[in-house]
Amino acid sequence: MFGAGNANADLMFVGEAPGASEDQQGLPFVGRAGQLLNQCLGEVGLQRSDVFITNVICCRPPGNRDPLPEEIDACKPYLYKKIELIEPKVICTLGNFATKLLTGNPTGITKVHGLPQQREVAGRIVQLFPLFHPAAALRTDAVKQLLRDDFAKLPALLAEHTEEEAVEASDIEQLGLFQ
Ligand code: URA
Repeated sequence: MFGAGNANADLMFVGEAPGASEDQQGLPFVGRAGQLLNQCLGEVGLQRSDVFITNVICCRPPGNRDPLPEEIDACKPYLYKKIELIEPKVICTLGNFATKLLTGNPTGITKVHGLPQQREVAGRIVQLFPLFHPAAALRTDAVKQLLRDDFAKLPALLAEHTEEEAVEASDIEQLGLFQ
């Protein structure tokens, strides 16, 4: 499973690992967790074609167990290369594995969800926005509500970090460097 979506997206989602449906179809988040992700995107006026979605791990861990540290290490270069190529401004890390890997911090999702963190990832400055994993939200209604509340903050975060680019472009125009 490589990932799917808009290769020019400003917004990227990084999950944990493919589940059974994802493994069969070679696409991320196509099962029940994916349906909830689609719903949350829709609630803030986004579609899957607006974003790029991938996972920390490229292959399904046998029996859906947690990824092993050596599996994370083996897949890490692929994730970082995708980030380098897609150049997202904001990366939503879904759940503990993506959050701990990309923040470089062992603090769990319960403490850091919904709080943007600026980080250097794959040589670029990005806003990381940790979210509960949709599969955890499917198990507990309170977590689902927290996921939806965090999603509601996403449009403002995106506007803030895509405006910077618009300002830079108009500065260049004013300097007469852009015809
Ligand atoms: N869970 C994930 O973390 N990723 C998927 O693609 C599907 C379920």
